[in-house]
Amino acid sequence: ERALREYPAQAIVDLAALRDNMRHLVEVCGGPGSGTAVMGVVKADAYGHGLIPSALAALAGGATWLGTAQAREALLLRKAGIGLDRCRILTWMYSGPTAPLDELIANDIDVSVGSLDGIELVAAAARATGRTAFIHVKVDSGFGRNGFTEMNFPDAVARLAPLAKEGLVRVVGQWSHLAVADAPDVPEFVAATDQQIENFNAFTELMKQAGIAPQIRHLANTAATLDRPEIRFELTRPGIGLYGYEPDPAMGTPSKYRLRPAMTLQAQLGTVKDVQAGHGISYGRTYLTGERTSTAIVPIGYADGIHRSASGFDVEGAQHVDKPGGPVRVMTVDGPRVLHVSGRVCMDQFVLDLCGSAAELGVHEGDTVMLFGPGRGEAYGEPTADDWARAAGTISYEVFTCLRGRIPRLYL
Ligand code: PLP
Repeated sequence: ERALREYPAQAIVDLAALRDNMRHLVEVCGGPGSGTAVMGVVKADAYGHGLIPSALAALAGGATWLGTAQAREALLLRKAGIGLDRCRILTWMYSGPTAPLDELIANDIDVSVGSLDGIELVAAAARATGRTAFIHVKVDSGFGRNGFTEMNFPDAVARLAPLAKEGLVRVVGQWSHLAVADAPDVPEFVAATDQQIENFNAFTELMKQAGIAPQIRHLANTAATLDRPEIRFELTRPGIGLYGYEPDPAMGTPSKYRLRPAMTLQAQLGTVKDVQAGHGISYGRTYLTGERTSTAIVPIGYADGIHRSASGFDVEGAQHVDKPGGPVRVMTVDGPRVLHVSGRVCMDQFVLDLCGSAAELGVHEGDTVMLFGPGRGEAYGEPTADDWARAAGTISYEVFTCLRGRIPRLYL
């Protein structure tokens, strides 16, 4: 209630959906005790859904690992009381000598190591804390981001082997990330993923030969977890699936995998008024009303994380000629109707052309409208974050993670 009074927009997160999505991902991997554990990827404030509540929901759904990019996020999980008895945590964003490796080791957090300097830093931190660092060796199997390549892997193995013997590090895992796993229908991408798997397996052989065979190998994001059973190995790392979305909407919206979107973004309408035909809407007059109509203000803008690229252009003055903006579901006396951002998204607001008279439609100031939620997609009158991603020229991941602090997260 307070959030409704103090903020004109709210993100409602259905934690049961999050839990059920994880439960489903665990089942897909063979169920508890199958030999394939599942990590809930909760980086970036759990893809904007809220770190701690989302992490707890993932654990309730059967995740036995949590994964974060930044060290701080991993430490926040432990500080929230999520101890080693509840789950292992891996953090992977390497930030050089400033990384708080000693704190991570002291808090039983596994760290990723993907550079020769990184090995030395982890070893030094383990020595300083008097504890063994649990490390996952990152392999650049073809993503071109972090990790060892065949060019420096022999050096890495040569350095890791004595450190493992000394007990300063324990090589818990070997891992890598896939570049194009979300396009199972594109033959060249399938071939690229196959090549990454081959490179990954070759590294395992090298590690085995050096006597530092990893206990746990992990490579699969959501897409591979769902579509590539042969590379689930001992652990998978789904992120977007936990939040109920497909990595690539072309994989099927609604989800063919029974995933349920967890977040609903809603707002309360500001000014509702009548305007004449040909009325310019918002900055740049990129939208002109086609006929006499009513407009409504949605009090949420790019400062809240609504992409400016989701603006709607209609310079001809007939609806949606040039580019429809992001969709908004509005309740009218005739039932729900999907309207679109009209004109440019501003810092704190955007305008909706109601395409009719507000009085006749029964649309009023203060009405709650939905930008996206747990539906089947705009075509069904139920906009999702994928629809917003399409309107903005991005992906659902960015739609969620851009939502800022001015939008309170409320939990169901
Ligand atoms: N693993 C790593 C290293 C990642 O960076 C991510 C997300 O980008 C994931 C796993 C989860 O990927 P997805 O959200 O596509 O399942």
